[in-house]
Order: sequence, then C-alpha cells, then structure tokens
Amino acid sequence: MKYGIDCGHNCPPDSGAVGIKREDELTLAVGYQVITQLQNLGHQVINCTPTSAKSVSDSLAKRCQKANDSHVDVFVSIHFNAFNGKAYGSEVFAISDKGKTLAKSVLNEICSLGFFSRGVKDGSRLYVLCNTNAPAILVECCFVDSSKDMQLFDVGKMASAIVKGLTGLTGVSPVQVSGDKWVELIDVLKATDIKYPQLKAAQLAQAILECGRGKSELFLLHNNPYGLKWRKEMSACATSVRYTAHDGLDDYCKFESLQDAVEGYWVFIGRSPYAGWERYANSPGDYLKFIVDAGYCPDKGYVDKVIKLLPEAIALLA
Ligand SMILES: [Zn+2]
Repeated sequence: MKYGIDCGHNCPPDSGAVGIKREDELTLAVGYQVITQLQNLGHQVINCTPTSAKSVSDSLAKRCQKANDSHVDVFVSIHFNAFNGKAYGSEVFAISDKGKTLAKSVLNEICSLGFFSRGVKDGSRLYVLCNTNAPAILVECCFVDSSKDMQLFDVGKMASAIVKGLTGLTGVSPVQVSGDKWVELIDVLKATDIKYPQLKAAQLAQAILECGRGKSELFLLHNNPYGLKWRKEMSACATSVRYTAHDGLDDYCKFESLQDAVEGYWVFIGRSPYAGWERYANSPGDYLKFIVDAGYCPDKGYVDKVIKLLPEAIALLA
C-alpha cells in the first residue's frame, strides 16, 4: 500500500491551533511516528506536508497535489482540535464509503486509548478531503486546549492507534528507527569533508550530548542534532521551526537532511560571534572552550561534559 500522510499545518501562514500544547508540534510528532511505523510494516509512505506556501489555500492545495501526483492509495491528514478548553475527544472526517470505513476503524482505535468518541463526521466541507483522489480521512486526534485530553495524550500511543486503525497491525516502535537515524548521522559525518577533520569528534560529541544519542525530537523531527537555535544567517541552509526544549519555547534550525545539518553546524560557527575560532582548530578542547565563552551555551559545565564524550565520539568515527 502507498499511504499519503499529511502532518496538518506546519507551513506558515498555515499554522495550527495553540492550546496547552501546539497543534503544529503534535501533528509533526504523531505524523513522524505514523510514517515510520507504516514503513516498518513494509508500506510505502509519501509525506504530503509541504515545506513552504504562499497562503493557507496554497498550503492545502500542495498537500492534495502531492498525494494525487504520487497516486497514493489512502490519504491521511493529521490534526488536533481546539475550541473552548472544555470540549474534548476525538473525531475523524471522511466523505467516501471507503474513507468512512477507515475513519471508523481509526476512531475506534484512538478511543480504545480512553479518548471520548465524537464520531465519524462528514468531511465534505474539508478541502483536503474534497480534493484528493484516494480514499481520505482527516483525523482530529484530540483537543490541544483540553487538559483532560492533553493528560491522556501520548505521541507513540496515538500514532500506533492510527496505524492499527489503518492497517489492522501495530507498527514497530520507532525506537529502532531513531537508532538508525543516529547511525546515519555518524555515517554522514564520517563521509563529509570538513576543513579541520580533527574537530569532527568535537562536533559529534556535541551531538551526543545535545540530542541524547539520537533521541531528541528536535533531531528526529527536524534533523537538528546540535540543538542549534535559529539565526538569520542560517537561512541559506535551514529554515526556522518553533520548538519547546528543556529551556522553553524558541526558534530552532530545521534542516532538510542530516547532510545539511552537518554542514549547517559550520555555517552556524562561521557567524560573527565566533570570529577567530580557527585559531583553536587544532585542539577540540580549546575549540569547545572558545565557542562556549563566545556564547554557544550558557551552561558553564558544557565544555567539560562535551570533553568527557570525546572518546566515545572518536570511537564512533573510527
Ligand atoms: Zn488543524
């Protein structure tokens, strides 16, 4: 089967609802896991989420066009609801009979997690359902402004429920996939020529710390293993994405690929706050001290933490 998966919104000016959590973040997180689980079950998946659009209607049209051009067998648009803080529960929209059958199946699985069923609803006023050729559903997983729903919500369980509703099977947990992506980052780093190869280990040690060896959502969803915040000079190699990390909501770099991330790191370091870093390029330790003093990270213990990880990084790159 070929699935078209659309992570709702995430394409300014098409942005999602904001409640206790942000719809944009949740649709990406659930969508990513749905995609990887479907792939693990052997299905082909087309990610129909566009990266840029001139307007909301352009954003919606691009999603449909991607699905139709790719001749997907089933189209699934993932959304979260918001209303008045009191409404809660899940609902799935569809138009065709095939779509309604899938909608009922997906809704049943989501409600088996404990969410209230608001029912299968008529999607004939929803653009992405009207303008896709394949049987299509739009899932409103639950309400981002409902504390009841947000307490119950778990990214992995929601994704598994959607996949089970679509296929009848439970996908493999994406933990393995995150491991694969981490290995991929190391391979990309190994294969990339950088001006000062002795600093590759420092670059990888920073990633080990920042993304927890490939586990952070910033890495899994946005290809940013270094926790690089958004700076306008990054626009040549990255786009900006709003993301809530341990230190709160901020704008971060989103890279198209891990290759872009590995090279983008050096674009980040090439900016004016770090002018003169090349004087320290012969020693990973001196280099790290210099960039941290120049403002790379407010945590004064950061340099020591990264230096302790250098042996692991050197071993991984060997
Ligand atoms: Zn939405």
